[in-house]
Amino acid sequence: MTVPESVLIRLKDAVGAKGFSTDPAEIAPHLEEWRGKYHGHSPLLLKPASAAEVSAVLRICHETGTHVVPQGGNTGLVGGQIPFNGEVLLSTKRLNKVRAVDESGMTLTAEAGVTLAEIQHEAAERYLLFPLSLASEGSCSIGGNIATNAGGTHVLRYGMTRALVLGLEVVLPDGTVLEMLRALHKDNSGYDLKQVFIGSEGTLGIITAATLRLFPKPDASVTALAAVPSPDAAVKLLGAMQSQTGGLLSAFELIPRIALEFVTRHIDGTRDPLDTPSPWYVLIEATGGRHATLEASFEDALAAAVSSGLVSDAVVASSATQGAALWKLRESISEAQKREGASIKHDIAVPVAAIPAFLAKATPAVRAAAPGARPVSFGHLGDGNIHFNFNSPAPGDDSSFLALWDEVQQVVHDIVKEFGGSISAEHGIGVMKRDSLPRYKSHEELDAMRALKAAFDPRNILNPGKMIPPVLRL
Ligand code: FAD
Ligand code: ZN
Repeated sequence: MTVPESVLIRLKDAVGAKGFSTDPAEIAPHLEEWRGKYHGHSPLLLKPASAAEVSAVLRICHETGTHVVPQGGNTGLVGGQIPFNGEVLLSTKRLNKVRAVDESGMTLTAEAGVTLAEIQHEAAERYLLFPLSLASEGSCSIGGNIATNAGGTHVLRYGMTRALVLGLEVVLPDGTVLEMLRALHKDNSGYDLKQVFIGSEGTLGIITAATLRLFPKPDASVTALAAVPSPDAAVKLLGAMQSQTGGLLSAFELIPRIALEFVTRHIDGTRDPLDTPSPWYVLIEATGGRHATLEASFEDALAAAVSSGLVSDAVVASSATQGAALWKLRESISEAQKREGASIKHDIAVPVAAIPAFLAKATPAVRAAAPGARPVSFGHLGDGNIHFNFNSPAPGDDSSFLALWDEVQQVVHDIVKEFGGSISAEHGIGVMKRDSLPRYKSHEELDAMRALKAAFDPRNILNPGKMIPPVLRL
């Protein structure tokens, strides 16, 4: 769309001199995401500093039919934050204040542009924990985390972002401010409206602030890397470790041998901590209780798993530094995959118990469609969420491999559907998976999503073209 000059002038006035930029050098980093996969263009970057300014902007956009794309830290992986069609870009970077921390009530209220790392830090300074943890935490914003209902490595214990939000302040597309910053754990006074905006990917309203749940910071923590013969053994180990630690697991991450090889090959300061290679590993973390008790129950559980053949070997970190080194193996997988060459990626979920059968069916199906593709299936086994990725057969044959993306994706997603799974477990839909949705969600569900969008955004000005597939006319 082309935004008329008269509208651009009104928008600039609404936010004042510090609240906008038309400087191409300042706008450029907001138009491209970190992998260079998506590029957009925009005549104006708005940087409002309050909900009142966001409201003034949206009122003008609503009145004039001007399209707006909200953007937080620009770390989203599905293109939702990119203005593809010359929309106005609204960055939350000046909504950057932590408004309040209630230590005894264990809540924190922050504006949407505060980074996740800053929120974790504010909590930790008070010996509290904000458990959301993503590799992008230094750059992503809490508003973006809420808009995408981000997951990460501690969902097993604390849930997705949805479970961590008590209250929201949201500006609707017509400029109405919904002040719902309640710090209540219990509130059944009508629809839980905040949940509608969590995971809505900037299509229903702009989140300007949130009241978040904090938790006691666990004193005790144990981390181990266990070698397992198969995904089936990993799933059985999950159940055994949960019951023997009394439900204290906070992470349970699947790692295939090839991922460990990529990491130790490409990432400085990493090494395989076990003597003998194993086809699969799990990174296990448990937190809470007293250290000696936790460590003893964790080690007993691992020893029992070794005796029963679920685990062939394991290393338990004996210091925080060793624990961090084990986590580095897991957290470096995406980067190592990138250095190894092109990859076709999926972010899928199936019921936890179905993971072994899913991998057994989907892996050969992909290799039939893309001969030689190297499976790198890793991630949040404890949540039933696998980053079901494939590297090209060898470094250097990237473009012919990437040309198979759509075909491979459909093979994978069709199998996900057979297992009653989801084609997007934690990264969202954005533009990347928008047109796949009708194949995997019922018309009825898609129509209900469209009805919600029309109710909140009747002029379709907020992040148009994202997440919701257009109605197909036959
Ligand atoms: P952006 O990328 O700026 O925006 C994402 C979406 O939210 C867009 O649709 C945008 O329009 C909308 N949006 C942003 N702010 C607002 C707002 N205030 N109000 C309304 N809509 C808004 N994600 C996971 O879930 N788990 C992971 O483990 C994970 N790991 C990652 C690792 C790396 C290295 C990277 C680069 C990304 C990873 N992500 C992960 C994806 C990404 O970090 C998350 O989706 C994150 O929540 C996005 O936050 P952001 O502030 O960068 O949002
Ligand atoms: Zn993930």
